[in-house]
Amino acid sequence: MSDFDLLVRGDQEDIGIGEGKFAAIAKNSRGSAREEVDATGLLIFPGVIDSHVHFNEPGRTDWEGFATGSRASAAGGTTTVFEMPLNAHPPTIDGASFDLKRAAAEASTIIDFGLWGGLVPNNLHQIETLRDRGVVGLKAFMCNSGMDDFPYADTATLREGMRIAAQLELLVAVHAESQEITHKLTAAKLSEGKRTVRDYLESRPLEAELDAIQRAIDLAHETRCRLHIVHVSSGRGVELVAAARANGLDVTCETCPHYLVLIDDDMEKIGAPAKCAPPLRDLAEQRDLWKRLDGVSTIGSDHSPSPPEMKQRDSFFEVWGGISSCQHLLSLLIDAAGDNEHKIPPQAIRRLTSSNVAHRFNLRDKGGIEVGKDADLTLVDLKATETIAAESLHYRHRLSPYLGRKLKNRVVRTILRGQTIYQDGKFAERPIGRFVQPQRP
Ligand SMILES: [Zn+2]
Repeated sequence: MSDFDLLVRGDQEDIGIGEGKFAAIAKNSRGSAREEVDATGLLIFPGVIDSHVHFNEPGRTDWEGFATGSRASAAGGTTTVFEMPLNAHPPTIDGASFDLKRAAAEASTIIDFGLWGGLVPNNLHQIETLRDRGVVGLKAFMCNSGMDDFPYADTATLREGMRIAAQLELLVAVHAESQEITHKLTAAKLSEGKRTVRDYLESRPLEAELDAIQRAIDLAHETRCRLHIVHVSSGRGVELVAAARANGLDVTCETCPHYLVLIDDDMEKIGAPAKCAPPLRDLAEQRDLWKRLDGVSTIGSDHSPSPPEMKQRDSFFEVWGGISSCQHLLSLLIDAAGDNEHKIPPQAIRRLTSSNVAHRFNLRDKGGIEVGKDADLTLVDLKATETIAAESLHYRHRLSPYLGRKLKNRVVRTILRGQTIYQDGKFAERPIGRFVQPQRP
């Protein structure tokens, strides 16, 4: 009989895996294993936990779906995703819609998954049900979400939702852009017949984001709710969150690879595939975001695809806003962080993409290479390169703002609970992904 099901031999240490868990971590393990993986010369990461994806299932699998989304994520080294509540049909705002989504995901995902519940006007009475179902948290929009059946939370809704969430020990995440400011500026642009990328950028200024972040922080202060600001686009946003934390509030924030590697000029050059909200900022803001990266808790992809037709509109305001990126979350970060200007060490990337996420969302079985945790691993070759090409994208629609970008690393193998789910372009054949939920005290 073997000591381990799988033994991963690395430069620093050997990792023994049994029954889907890390069983031993030691230098020069003498243990026997049914299978050995030679990972010498490779960077070994804990599996990435991407806490922000839109897979649009059920109801909109023509946009993405768990089958394609989970494969693209696995190819990028991600072993767990948290899926957002707004683009499925029905949206995930009550027990029944939650059950439908969980069943749909279990039927096709090759990676583990958690589910966000929505916080919208009129579903406050469903929050406890969503908590009992095991949502990772509640997601609210402070401006128009782009989905008619997922209305934004006005201040009164957000306050009451956060009050209930605090009682139930639920985390609330917000898309922080001011409805008042963005709506007014957008209406002004459209009334003047202005429709370009630059007009869109000007309709969503940083001021609109900072205003909403501060309002959310004030509500967290008032309600004592745990708050997570998703996709913060600037260093100044991170600064507001850090100040709130220094004040004793339980507030954290996320940023995304696109805010770290693309700027406003890229949105003009690339067009529709680079449209997102909050929009890309200028170079000075981006440099400031890198400088304040230690104030960021998590990095999620905010993978938000749509059918190609929705990206083809004469007016940039009408183009679907969302960047397809879950396949390159880790590789983009390693590549950009290795840049001489930034010098972010691999340990920081591990924290931002895995251990901090597990900690923030109370997933005690994940987020690190430690005995007893789920054996989720990603092996990255820093000597290999990848030029991002449409043919190698595993999304349902082969759109990416990063086409042609050369990355100085490559994910070579992804392991979920001890099983290889991605290697050399091949994937796990069965939907072995499982539902995960926050552990409660
Ligand atoms: Zn999103």
